[in-house]
Amino acid sequence: MNSLTHVDFNLTILEEEVCARDIVEKNINELSASGKDDAFYVADLGDVVKKHLHWTRALPRVQPFYAVKCNPSRVVVMALATLGVGFDCASKSEIQLVQSVGVEPGRIIYAHTCKQPSHLQYALEHGITMMTFDNEAELEKIAHCHGHAKLVLRIITDDSKSLVRLSNKFGAPLKKSRVLLERASELGLEVVGVSFHVGSGCTDPQAYAHALSDARYVFDLGAELGYNMNLLDIGGGFPGKEHTKLKFEEYTAVINPALEKYFPVNSGVKIIAEPGRYYVASAFTLAANIIAKNVVMQEQSASDENGIGTSDRTLMYYVNDGIHGSFHCSFTDGSPALQSLVKRPKQDELWHPSSIWGHTCDGHDCIVERTLLPELQIGDWLLFENWGAYSVAAYSGFNGFQRPDTYYVVSRVAWQYLQQVHGQGMPVSMQG
Ligand SMILES: *Cc1c(COP(=O)(O)O)cnc(C)c1O
Repeated sequence: MNSLTHVDFNLTILEEEVCARDIVEKNINELSASGKDDAFYVADLGDVVKKHLHWTRALPRVQPFYAVKCNPSRVVVMALATLGVGFDCASKSEIQLVQSVGVEPGRIIYAHTCKQPSHLQYALEHGITMMTFDNEAELEKIAHCHGHAKLVLRIITDDSKSLVRLSNKFGAPLKKSRVLLERASELGLEVVGVSFHVGSGCTDPQAYAHALSDARYVFDLGAELGYNMNLLDIGGGFPGKEHTKLKFEEYTAVINPALEKYFPVNSGVKIIAEPGRYYVASAFTLAANIIAKNVVMQEQSASDENGIGTSDRTLMYYVNDGIHGSFHCSFTDGSPALQSLVKRPKQDELWHPSSIWGHTCDGHDCIVERTLLPELQIGDWLLFENWGAYSVAAYSGFNGFQRPDTYYVVSRVAWQYLQQVHGQGMPVSMQG
């Protein structure tokens, strides 16, 4: 069985009073001193632990299955496995990653409704039976594999208020659920429940209430058709950044009563979810280095909105990450808030209209189109906090630029907690 100490990764246990941000600055000093300038992440596993404990308090009836695609960091997967979290996988290699840290098949849901046949075969051969579907061809494909699958019917949701819509591609309309359940029955397949996803980055907690009501309808339909459904999967969509407009509690305040209404405890239905962003967004900070700079003179002096000063110059900064890497998600999530500069600006410093560009030769590779910054120099560092969701995961290697390294940190307390929970049926041993 693997343990966090046996893999090749940088983990620093933080003693009291030291925080992840201190490690970011320490790294920057060390890199700069040795003439290095590659972008890097610092990931705080303590933040992941905190998120998990928060989840268990706020959604006590819902067992989380982490959506691996959101950030497939092996260390994060190991920490979550140790915490007893299950996993939502969508491909053979995601399944293999989770298996490689010792997670048993019962803690994996294959939550892709359109599975590559050879990956499906792999899953069934390895005892991964819980899987979603939303169409007839998929049912036929699964029946053809002759494995024993426990199927979950994914239904469409109203995802109009989410950053990333999913129901345009996945999910069956309610009016199709009868036909699908009948077809599954004809094929001798077992349907054990219903799933949905309200869209990633959901900004309307009511979307969960509507989806839960629809799920109840399908459960009743299933009962009418002779199914004994006992699994409800409420998907992802939960916020993961710090200081979001809507707090996690505003979602759980809708979800918990709706669960009580449609799926009360005595219904015996097991409830799971597939959070991605929730677990990893706030744990990761990206530090990128300014590798080039261009000063563009304005014809007229541009006045600045904050009244910090005026400038007749616009500055273009080029940093060593971009939209073909960690900022791929800005297509959907919007451009990142640049949370901090490592170098503190002087009090009366002039701020300039500025833009931040990625390092590839792609003209679209712009990270922040317009912001105000004090004048920065080549070699200065920019920090993007809350940058763990759909960031490293989407690195493409375009133009030959490499994925940034990640340095992991964990507070002493969180580390002790991980060691303490290990062994309670958890696969990962985590000796310091
Ligand atoms: C992407 C995805 C998730 C995770 O969504 P978040 O909004 O990041 O929580 C969960 N389930 C499925 C099927 C997904 O495609």
